[in-house]
Amino acid sequence: MGQLTLNKVQKSYGTYEVLKSIELEVGNGEFVVFVGPSGCGKSTLLRMIAGLDETTAGDIVIDGKRVNDLPPVRRGIAMVFQSYALYPHMSVFENIAFPLRVEKMPEEKLKAKVQHAARILHLDQRLEQKPGMLSGGQRQRVAIGRAIVREPKIFLFDEPLSNLDAALRADMRIELAKLHRHLKATMIYVTHDQVEAMTMADRIVVLNAGEIAQTGAPLELYHKPANIFVAGFIGNPKMNFLPVTCTGVNDAGVEVDYKGQTILVPVVPRAGMTGRTLTLGVRPEHIRMGDADLTLTVTPSVIERLGAHTVAYVALDGEGENYCAMLPGTLAIRADQRVKTGIRAIDCHLFDEKGMAFERRVETTDIDMSHFDPAAA
Ligand code: ADP
Ligand code: MG
Repeated sequence: MGQLTLNKVQKSYGTYEVLKSIELEVGNGEFVVFVGPSGCGKSTLLRMIAGLDETTAGDIVIDGKRVNDLPPVRRGIAMVFQSYALYPHMSVFENIAFPLRVEKMPEEKLKAKVQHAARILHLDQRLEQKPGMLSGGQRQRVAIGRAIVREPKIFLFDEPLSNLDAALRADMRIELAKLHRHLKATMIYVTHDQVEAMTMADRIVVLNAGEIAQTGAPLELYHKPANIFVAGFIGNPKMNFLPVTCTGVNDAGVEVDYKGQTILVPVVPRAGMTGRTLTLGVRPEHIRMGDADLTLTVTPSVIERLGAHTVAYVALDGEGENYCAMLPGTLAIRADQRVKTGIRAIDCHLFDEKGMAFERRVETTDIDMSHFDPAAA
């Protein structure tokens, strides 16, 4: 088993509150990713679960037992860090075996466990080598092997792929997803990279300034972000935000005005919105060429050709607002050329003055993906 409960967990350094009353349940076998910008408290939270940092208030419960006062080795967890923390003078075998040596496991049993972990991680041919002879990806696998042999209830990863180059990172993402399927263990993975979070997680916990901004499955966060922070953090390039004025509310949604054009956004309406300044959100990948429910004729200042897509960056007239559109890669378009772009109401998000989302009426399955390039999705 590997079930974790965080009950009003809080952390302060002096008067500085790093984490504010974190409430979270992680189910046995779940792959949960903590994601958020640098400094939001991800590592601190993970280290508190591990027992490496003290918890200021609240309970950390693993499999029904409060572990706040237990040392790391007695919590049933194993942690993998960004810096692999290997012993350079020891072989790969001894590096993996290290925690088993500490607990004085008999040689036969120890050998079987190390070899089993090495097979899973494709390190069986490397066991006699020293870490210095390995690539970054292989070194990180040794560190993961050292976690595996301990057979923890919960694996904790703190940005384990950050030291690897982009291609290797993509490979290791797939390796870790396979490892999770194979071990069926609970894994908690910290990263600042929303792509890692989206691709690996069963469930993502978005942290912002020491608080949970939203918890949900990757596509739930993508299609129904609860607030502007999550909307801007999940997705790349990030969501466009346009200031709009509410002109009316009816059963079908909320009507807003953007520079003289109105658009009816299909969200759950709220009373008393008319006249207020709201924020309309639309993802770059949902903008199309030509007219739609809201049409913006724009002049991109920069065009990036990525092959599958062409990304156009626009400074909207007068107000210093940025607008970014991800257009088909086949599109013949130059910077400084006027183009008509369209936004469909069904693709829009709407946020109130506090940045909280209006609940969207669309279900993931209702969303027309026909203009997506599946190769790049
Ligand atoms: P993240 O991993 O999300 O980048 P951290 O958990 O490392 O962020 O840090 C969260 C905040 O806590 C940061 O503002 C950091 O400066 C602060 N912090 C971390 N460790 C300490 C410490 N030992 N003393 C004081 N402040 C700390
Ligand atoms: Mg960190």
